[in-house]
Amino acid sequence: MSERKENERKHEPLSPKLRASLPAVNVDKLVAEIKYYVDEEFAHIQVREPAICGACTQKPCLAFCPVHVFTQDAQSKIMVGYQACVECGSCRIGCPFSNIDWQLPRGGYGVAYKFG
Ligand code: SF4
Ligand code: SF4
Repeated sequence: MSERKENERKHEPLSPKLRASLPAVNVDKLVAEIKYYVDEEFAHIQVREPAICGACTQKPCLAFCPVHVFTQDAQSKIMVGYQACVECGSCRIGCPFSNIDWQLPRGGYGVAYKFG
C-alpha cells in the first residue's frame, strides 16, 4: 500500500515529505476563476433552526466551508452568504446537528467551473 493510501486509511496527516511532493494549489486563484450565476430570489442554503446554532459550541461551519459562506454577526448569530457557495457539499455532512438545509441551486443558477 502506498504511503498516501496508508495515511488516508489511518486518517493521519500527510508526512512532510509527501506533502512537499504534492502540486501547489492556490484555492483563491481557483475560486477567482469560477463563474457565479446567483439566484437572488432563492437561497439554496439555509440554517434550519437558529436556536440550535446558538447551542452549538464549536460551530464547525465557520471552518469547513472553503469560501466562508457561514459567518457570525455581532450577536453571534450564524449568517449564510449562500451567493458565494461553490457547491462542494461539505455542509451536507459537516454540521453535527444536521441543521443546514442545502439544496441544489435552481436550474440555470449556481457555479460554473472552468477546467484546464
Ligand atoms: S455547525 Fe450547524 S448547528 Fe453549528 S453553528 Fe454551524 S450550522 Fe449551526
Ligand atoms: S456546499 Fe461547500 S461551499 Fe457551499 S456553503 Fe456548503 S461548505 Fe460552503
